[in-house]
Amino acid sequence: MKIFNRKQALHTYLDELRSQGKTIGFVPTMGALHAGHLSLIEQAQQKADIIVCSIFVNPTQFNDKKDLENYPRPVEDDIKKLESIKCDLLFIPEVEEMYNSSDKWSMELDNLDNILEGKIRPGHYQGVTQIVKKLFDIIKPDFAFFGQKDYQQFMVISYMVKKLRIKVILVLCPIVREKDGLAMSSRNIYLSPQDRQNSLALFHALSKFRDLYKSKSISQLKTEITSFLKSAPGIEMEYFEIFNAKSFESATSKRPGSIIALVAAKVGSIRIIDNMIIEK
Ligand code: AMP
Repeated sequence: MKIFNRKQALHTYLDELRSQGKTIGFVPTMGALHAGHLSLIEQAQQKADIIVCSIFVNPTQFNDKKDLENYPRPVEDDIKKLESIKCDLLFIPEVEEMYNSSDKWSMELDNLDNILEGKIRPGHYQGVTQIVKKLFDIIKPDFAFFGQKDYQQFMVISYMVKKLRIKVILVLCPIVREKDGLAMSSRNIYLSPQDRQNSLALFHALSKFRDLYKSKSISQLKTEITSFLKSAPGIEMEYFEIFNAKSFESATSKRPGSIIALVAAKVGSIRIIDNMIIEK
């Protein structure tokens, strides 16, 4: 696997591959790679000739300084994992390579950045769009792969791509879970054994939502699952919402298409998010 720290070198290298007719698949990450990340790379390998993974803990998307400082950075392990699945290129820049003091970014995001995660983490999606735009400009991928785990992020990036007319096909990849159902996340390593057990309430809530879906109305589902989450031990629910998966607005009935239930909670000091889509 070729490793690049410099954007210009990567840009030049990819230009050469493009001129040979190769397609580029891109998987942006913040590292501390787990099977969820690796599944994105595997799906990219099905679609594109050359796969670029980036590892960059993007400071502008963190609104909590401690979270940024504590974010795991096991770079050597990550490189081994990427090599083991034959990723072609890794882009792993320093912060100074991606930002300079004159950087400014503000993008209208059709209110997507003011709800759910955006409401709890002000500025988060401005930071996400800022870095993804920079990475797209450097890599110019034909395809970019994102996890359903961060569904709102996928909606935000889809909006940006449409609005700025960026020529890339976005691919949404399914959530990879631990055996017991917990959605894989780089932050899960910080859960104490008790919190790890308690965190299962999120998956159990979503499973309950799926099981009850046919027999209950949206408002009944909202009430029942919310009360389940509120009474679950050791977790502090932040939100449980039922949205139309396409419009990403609160669902009032089951009719309009696929439905997504989204949940966020604090388990100890760790925030956990998860979701489940009920296809039409
Ligand atoms: P992150 O490193 O957390 O920024 O995630 C990088 C990419 O991996 C994002 O597109 C995430 O949605 C995706 N991802 C994270 N966790 C999972 C998971 N458990 N299953 C599938 N994709 C995931």
